[in-house]
Amino acid sequence: MLITQGPQFNGKVSKRLHVMAKPIGAACNIDCTYCYYLSKQDLLEYKKGCSPRMDEDTLETYIRQYIEGQNTAEIIFSWQGGEPTMLGLDYFRKIVELQKKYKPEGIIISNDLQTNGTLLNDEWCVFLAANNFLVGLSIDGPEMLHNAYRTNRAGRGTFKQVMMAVELLHKHQVKFATLTCVNNLTSKNPLDVYRFLRDVVKSPQMQFIPIVEQKTFRTTAPQKWKSQEQLRQGDKKLNPWHKNSVVEPWCVSADAWGDFLIAVFDEWIKQDIGKVFVQYFEASVETWMGRKNPLCTLGEICGKGLAMEPNGDVYTCDHYVYPDYQVGNIHHKNIDEMAYSESQKTFGFAKSRTLTSQCQQCEYQFACYGECPKNRFIRTKEGEPGLNYLCAGWKKFFSHADKSLAYVLRASGYPVAHGKYSDEVIRQQGQRFPQFPTCF
Ligand code: SF4
Ligand code: SF4
Repeated sequence: MLITQGPQFNGKVSKRLHVMAKPIGAACNIDCTYCYYLSKQDLLEYKKGCSPRMDEDTLETYIRQYIEGQNTAEIIFSWQGGEPTMLGLDYFRKIVELQKKYKPEGIIISNDLQTNGTLLNDEWCVFLAANNFLVGLSIDGPEMLHNAYRTNRAGRGTFKQVMMAVELLHKHQVKFATLTCVNNLTSKNPLDVYRFLRDVVKSPQMQFIPIVEQKTFRTTAPQKWKSQEQLRQGDKKLNPWHKNSVVEPWCVSADAWGDFLIAVFDEWIKQDIGKVFVQYFEASVETWMGRKNPLCTLGEICGKGLAMEPNGDVYTCDHYVYPDYQVGNIHHKNIDEMAYSESQKTFGFAKSRTLTSQCQQCEYQFACYGECPKNRFIRTKEGEPGLNYLCAGWKKFFSHADKSLAYVLRASGYPVAHGKYSDEVIRQQGQRFPQFPTCF
């Protein structure tokens, strides 16, 4: 679709983009075992004069370009790290001041901030609430599970500090979501994790992230792998616990990812639907209904979320912060030019244009689209490279959830556009919709 044919805003073509800004780069006050970002300090050559703190000129250039580059009712800034709160509260006060300076009349400016929570205090939370920030808080579950990998530099768990942050966020009514890494340990304890987030943290929105890292991730950019070295689906060396595994030992296996989602889904759909917000499940409901998946990882097209380093270097995606995927620098090129560049569009469309035959024939392609390309480092059983490492887990989950999702939609009066129990399939087969699914 041409950009001029899109929806309109203020009498002109609507234009939006999203950048994950990292004003402190990879710098962090803690040292999580599975952090994929700390290694970037060397990879991006921070030592060769690239400041780990975005200076004021770069910050102002970025905020101005980001606002000027969009034509939409709401402009959303995302601040990430490393740990962005290490920049101090005054830095964020400056951010809000600059946003006000460039904000056009009638436009809403929103901010979200991803944090490990350990530096939050009353003063921070008063500021975050007053300025309507949405906080993404990293927490991996109950104490033992959280502390297994989320440790400080002395190797001690950060659970107690994060729980203090939870208390403060509630006390000051700061909007927040929890971000939970599903790794080799949390994946084995799905209900402990889910119930803890639901009942103790009282998470307003749960986001689960499967941890998948090849052992070569520190030096080799995604999709720059040698295809002849990719292992076939089902190969034992794809298991994180195998002594010669190609992935890091803290990763989730494909099967464990599927089992984790299934266990949480069953509890959610039985008693929590409509009360507890789990991002993957809400997205699945939308997808089964026939809407576009709101998550880039499961959508048809990606590449709409760039990442920016403290010196203004911009990359294709947060998971592609490698020299091979740099798209420019805001001091030389406007951010909207980079977001709408041919190379970025090619990257985004490649997500669905490069699917393996297995994905093309998959009955759940509509819900998955081969998941994130950074995880497509295995071969199909037939030997075709470029299949997603998590494929078996996703398929297991989708086929398990299919009937329940169709039931929920139909019972709520919504169309069921996809899956084995879609309106079309039921009509073609001249069947009545099956009774209450067994997993309820
Ligand atoms: S590469 Fe993965 S994380 Fe990045 S935009 Fe695409 S799907 Fe999303
Ligand atoms: S479930 Fe597997 S085969 Fe199906 S679209 Fe996803 S990655 Fe491809």
